[in-house]
Amino acid sequence: MIVVMRPGATREEVLSVCRRLEELGFRTHPIYGQEKTVVGAIGDKRALSSEAIVNLPGVEKVVPILKPYKLVSRELKDTSTIVRVGEIPVGGRGIVVMAGPCAVESEEQLLSVARFVKAAGAHILRGGAFKPRTSPYAFQGLEEEGLKMLARARQETGLPFVTEVVDTRDVALVAEYADALQIGARNMQNFRLLQEAGATGKPILLKRGFAATVEEWLMAAEYILDAGNPNVILCERGIRTFEPATRFTLDLSAVAVVKENSHLPVIVDPSHGTGSWKYVLPLARAAVAVGADGLLIEVHPDPARALCDGPQSLHPETFDRLMGELTPLAVAVGRDWVTSGSMAG
Ligand code: PEP
Ligand code: MN
Repeated sequence: MIVVMRPGATREEVLSVCRRLEELGFRTHPIYGQEKTVVGAIGDKRALSSEAIVNLPGVEKVVPILKPYKLVSRELKDTSTIVRVGEIPVGGRGIVVMAGPCAVESEEQLLSVARFVKAAGAHILRGGAFKPRTSPYAFQGLEEEGLKMLARARQETGLPFVTEVVDTRDVALVAEYADALQIGARNMQNFRLLQEAGATGKPILLKRGFAATVEEWLMAAEYILDAGNPNVILCERGIRTFEPATRFTLDLSAVAVVKENSHLPVIVDPSHGTGSWKYVLPLARAAVAVGADGLLIEVHPDPARALCDGPQSLHPETFDRLMGELTPLAVAVGRDWVTSGSMAG
């Protein structure tokens, strides 16, 4: 439920509403807005007679939240959330591009991609050090060595980085190095992992499970916000359908649905979404047009030799072309920028 405070309610009044709600067994999430402050109250409504709250000083009204997800909902907060990864705002007017290899394979490989994507105008570096693989025999990642390489690439290029964490046992280690933690599709409903990762306070890039509905995805984000971390970026990365022409079916309608129902930023990953580098460009354009706040793109210096996801990885020159194409498109749909430059200049 939402407790809407009167315009001009004092901070003390807001805090005393929170205290009362907490005595009644609710968890409270005050949101201080420009015009109004609201308090999200999560708990069992049956414990509450609404007079107990409505009559407190500074309270205007109490309204129920109708959706099953509460804290991520626009019913509670209708201004869009901006999540900062390092210095980069995700969810504002700019289109943010996160790019890099599927997996960190060596220092040389990572540094060369990091330099390329930086020169082409990417804002955030990505790369997996802990890899969730379908086969136990496939390359599993360089683990802490990979994190150290990502940190060195950040030092050299100035790009903050996002990397996946696959197990609660690794959360503290990954959080020590990374600017943002990725929760992969296969772990979207690993609720303990969501809570532990959320508790670090780092921004969380939450990928949609490939068999998850939009509502289940938003409920997973709700776990992280409920753990006290409002910095969640959603990522549509394709779902399983009957269509085998692409690796997954990139569900761009989900972006429009999420934008309507949630204040969280949402980005699109056309690399995993299609599984083929050829389709990454057209789907990246479509993602920007539909209203995504950013893109996650896999780039490899030599895709044919990649240890992971080579067929969907862009060659650096193709990535540069993509960045060049996106800038005018972003402006056409009312966004500020995509890229700060090109490899040529
Ligand atoms: C990845 O980003 O490399 C990855 C494994 O993604 P997903 O969880 O979407 O499959
Ligand atoms: Mn990958």
